[in-house]
Amino acid sequence: MDLKKYLEAGKIGKEAREYGKELIKEGASYYDVANKVEKYILDAGAKPAFPVNLSPNNIAAHYSPIKGDGMYFRRGDLIKLDLGAHIDGYISDTAVTVEVGTRNWEELIEASSEALKSAIKILRPGIEIREIGAAIEEEITIRGFRPIYNLTGHGLARYDLHHEISIPNYDDGTRTVLRPGMAFAIEPFATTGRGKVRNGKGGNIYILTEYRHLDGFFSEIFEKYRTLPFAARWCEHHEDYLERLKEGTKKGVVHHFAILQERKKAMVAQTEHTFVMTDEGAIVTTQ
Ligand code: MN
Ligand code: MN
Repeated sequence: MDLKKYLEAGKIGKEAREYGKELIKEGASYYDVANKVEKYILDAGAKPAFPVNLSPNNIAAHYSPIKGDGMYFRRGDLIKLDLGAHIDGYISDTAVTVEVGTRNWEELIEASSEALKSAIKILRPGIEIREIGAAIEEEITIRGFRPIYNLTGHGLARYDLHHEISIPNYDDGTRTVLRPGMAFAIEPFATTGRGKVRNGKGGNIYILTEYRHLDGFFSEIFEKYRTLPFAARWCEHHEDYLERLKEGTKKGVVHHFAILQERKKAMVAQTEHTFVMTDEGAIVTTQ
């Protein structure tokens, strides 16, 4: 555990989130916003822990823009901006939901942000994971929405974005406890729908699944991103990057993450912070 690096990654993640929030305006392109936010993280002295996710409306997570996707923010869109920074592998992971130009979904956004606050209120060393889920579920359902049952918060470790534990957004009975020294993210998702996401098409986010016998293209990726997710966008300097990624996916060298979507028209909001548990209590690194 390197608390100092977790705190620095958290601070940069928070600043990048606040910066990115302001860039999400009607007519702006997803591609520009993602690139700008990632450049902000690099200029601040960290690296993106994963590609900037900009997931609209019923898409809960895992869309990262790609050159030529023609994606622009439209009035009324509900955008989940989810990003991470890392210092030497020590990760922050944070998200906010932005509504573009309208105020139709404020209550839904508030359900997810208040759910996170209610989880923060009860965090303490030794807390059982199910207690966190119960607090989140209660805060969301009392407001007339549903949590997403098959998306969770997660443990964090060096160069490991999803380490060991899952922290569901409902009481699933998990009695595992959060102990001092653990780093983790909590991310309540609130929806107007049934509360289940399913896989859609590929979202342009990849992770290496094979580390031996890599060719030039993929060993460059390993050198740069290690065991963390990366974007198709980050490979643009290779003329044939799309073919290479497609081929790598087919051969099982990389995994291509699918977008996670609620059923059509069910809107989704998300709020996320990263935490480090200490003997004295939980530190929110991204607040
Ligand atoms: Mn996240
Ligand atoms: Mn997360």
